[in-house]
Amino acid sequence: MNEKYEAVIGLEVHAQLLTESKIFCGCSTKFGNAPNTNVCPVCLGHPGVLPVLNKKMVEYTVLMGLATDCDINERSIFARKNYFYPDLPKGYQISQYEEPICEHGHVNIVFQDDSIKRIGITRIHMEEDAGKSIHDQSYSTLVDVNRCGIPLMEIVSEPDMRTPTEASLYLMKIRQIVQYLGICDGNMEEGSLRCDANVSVRLAGETKLGTKTEIKNMNSFKNVEKAIAFEINRQIEVIEDGGTITQETLLWNADLNEAFSMRSKEEAHDYRYFPEPDLLPVVVDEKWKSEIAKQMPELPEVRKNRLTNKYNLPKYDAEILTQSKPVADYYEKVIEVTDDYKTASNWVMTDVLKVINEEKIEINNFPVPPEDLGELVNLIKEGTISGKIAKEVFPVMLHDKKKPSAIVKEKNLLQISDSSEIEKIVDKIISDKPGEVQQYIEGKEKVFGFFVGQIMRETKGKANPQMVNDTLREKLDALKK
Ligand code: ADP
Ligand code: ZN
Ligand code: MG
Repeated sequence: MNEKYEAVIGLEVHAQLLTESKIFCGCSTKFGNAPNTNVCPVCLGHPGVLPVLNKKMVEYTVLMGLATDCDINERSIFARKNYFYPDLPKGYQISQYEEPICEHGHVNIVFQDDSIKRIGITRIHMEEDAGKSIHDQSYSTLVDVNRCGIPLMEIVSEPDMRTPTEASLYLMKIRQIVQYLGICDGNMEEGSLRCDANVSVRLAGETKLGTKTEIKNMNSFKNVEKAIAFEINRQIEVIEDGGTITQETLLWNADLNEAFSMRSKEEAHDYRYFPEPDLLPVVVDEKWKSEIAKQMPELPEVRKNRLTNKYNLPKYDAEILTQSKPVADYYEKVIEVTDDYKTASNWVMTDVLKVINEEKIEINNFPVPPEDLGELVNLIKEGTISGKIAKEVFPVMLHDKKKPSAIVKEKNLLQISDSSEIEKIVDKIISDKPGEVQQYIEGKEKVFGFFVGQIMRETKGKANPQMVNDTLREKLDALKK
């Protein structure tokens, strides 16, 4: 990026809430049902029907507000946002506009070097989703209105971010919080977490904001970063060429790695927002608010501190393990079985997460149950197998879905910890290699490793490494005298 300029980024994040029913009717929110089956006169906007607000929707949004240090407004109202689109049968979307339920919050993003930046949250409001248009290959468009009325929470940030990395860290933080609260699954690929990025640039040192554009349609963290970087560079080029930025909405095309103009920006008055006449103001009094606050689960920050304090894990480990709640849950199930917390953490952070990332699966679908991984850690701890052998057992666990103890038995991988047996092997190697023995006697310490290697080869890695070391040292040193 051109040093002369500074980018300014604000995100609008939509989170689909995990309620059983829709925001204003009793229709199911279940994903994947046959198109146009989760519908009723209310979410189809038939004349004369009346919406009734889902109480869970309010509770979930207040939870999010509390988790992000927002003020919870005692009174908030719904508004109609009017526009025409085939996937919006009512002709308007019920949203919150002038008096949203939560305002003035913030979250902290954490950089790799442990430094922290606070990102402001302007507002969080409740709204309904629209349907889905499916453009097929022959020029027709199909409409599925199952999504009409799915509860959405919109989280609007302050324009506080300056780089694509900051934007994606912020988005990860939001996802982490909604997942911990259990109010949204946070799946960007499936669209249950969506993000629009507002981007502008200005000369470094300038305090006035530049004209912004809005990019939509990014369905992964990578794409959010790429799209913002693309747009920053595009805007700088336009300005460097003497042009000006037009306020508009762009669509990110992940295949072409480019954003394309979708429409010039509409103004709020184009939507003719007005208060929704069919819904009462939402009132969250102190009593209800404190009841909701009582449901607050452990938040990521707290969990991270707990992992470092209670299990004596390094900060770095705790950060990685708590990034996703299901991973932290998995880890804590592993350590129900073993008390070797650090070894368990190493296995989850490296071996487990590696497979998850490579195979692109969720940890809930990870083939090795946490109890089995705990058992594996115990086998190492008790000296039944060596750490090296464990690395051979693990892929078998992944593949055959068998208990590590069964695999060890079946494949005869038990660690050799019988001192007389180890002595026998050590003696054999020493008598096989008189040349190297002579070198050791002459003070060449390096050959010690050579002997260890020979013994491990002889035992196919099964000899207890500590015992091998001790016995070998003793025997070799005895020869020195
Ligand atoms: P709009 O009315 O166009 O939706 P808002 O004021 O509601 O604009 O802001 C929408 C989002 O855009 C917010 O996240 C806000 O922080 C961000 N934003 C506003 N102005 C700018 C700007 N000049 N550059 C970058 N982001 C901005
Ligand atoms: Zn309905
Ligand atoms: Mg806006």
